[in-house]
Amino acid sequence: MGRVIAVANQKGGVGKTTTAINLAASFAAAEVNTLLVDCDPQSNATSGLGFVKDPDRVNSYHLLMRDASAEEALLTTELEQLWLIPAHKNLIGANIELIDMEGREFRMREALAPLRDRFQFIVLDCPPALDLLTLNALVAADAVLIPMQGEYFALEGVSELLDTIERIRASLNPSLGIEGVVLTMFDERTNLAQQVMAELKNYFGEKLCRTTVPRNIRLAEAPSHGKAALMYDPRSKGAESYIRLAKEIIERQVPSSVQAPMEEAVAESATEAPAEETAAEMDKSA
Ligand code: ATP
Ligand code: MG
Repeated sequence: MGRVIAVANQKGGVGKTTTAINLAASFAAAEVNTLLVDCDPQSNATSGLGFVKDPDRVNSYHLLMRDASAEEALLTTELEQLWLIPAHKNLIGANIELIDMEGREFRMREALAPLRDRFQFIVLDCPPALDLLTLNALVAADAVLIPMQGEYFALEGVSELLDTIERIRASLNPSLGIEGVVLTMFDERTNLAQQVMAELKNYFGEKLCRTTVPRNIRLAEAPSHGKAALMYDPRSKGAESYIRLAKEIIERQVPSSVQAPMEEAVAESATEAPAEETAAEMDKSA
């Protein structure tokens, strides 16, 4: 059974979509079947993979309304092992329409259930709000990946997200874990960045990803070409950092299903962290 990772942070512009696209593309490039689901009415993950706006295309709105199956919404992409379920701006209406509907928080989970065996990773790109769309993603997910900008007030606002995760665990999805916190648009050379990193390490411990994502122009340019960074400029620092992040996440869980194609990656990263430590981390997140 695949792992469902929601990329969430209610703060806008912290790198959720950039992370969702490039992490999903990096999983796919590592030869594991991966599905990216655009859960944001802004539809940036959809356009970032080169799909023009099309109100008639089956999208995540139809899934939430039970008007279509996830199977019907699947799109193939430029990467052989990456599929996309797109969004459209009509998804904004789902926030209101869902309020009175039965099982309103469980719609995405239900929709994705038939696909979980087909994909080793399902990555959900959330909108910048703790609304019913994000709630649906968090109920559907096994774990949350939280992108944060390495800035002075980084921790401000994240407590609201952590409270929400706690509440979801207490009621709607007891097995929801935290996949990790990843620093984005990070400039490790500055003293301030180092201070922020130390503070976050203190707060999140092992949940703070070892991989940080630098500010990199290629990551910002790639979506306007409809490509993940590793297709646009595979040697860029941005593309490389997301490949490393994908390896780190795979290494954290190492289920037998993805172990084989990732042997190389795991062997490489094994020099950085002993296997027992990785297993212990997994227990904590379980
Ligand atoms: P929203 O909350 O609106 O959904 P978001 O959290 O998804 O935003 P992104 O859209 O990924 O954030 O990023 C915001 C902007 O910053 C975009 O223009 C994106 O191209 C740029 N960006 C993201 N990460 C990086 C990076 N590491 N280096 C340079 N630019 C980046
Ligand atoms: Mg976004």
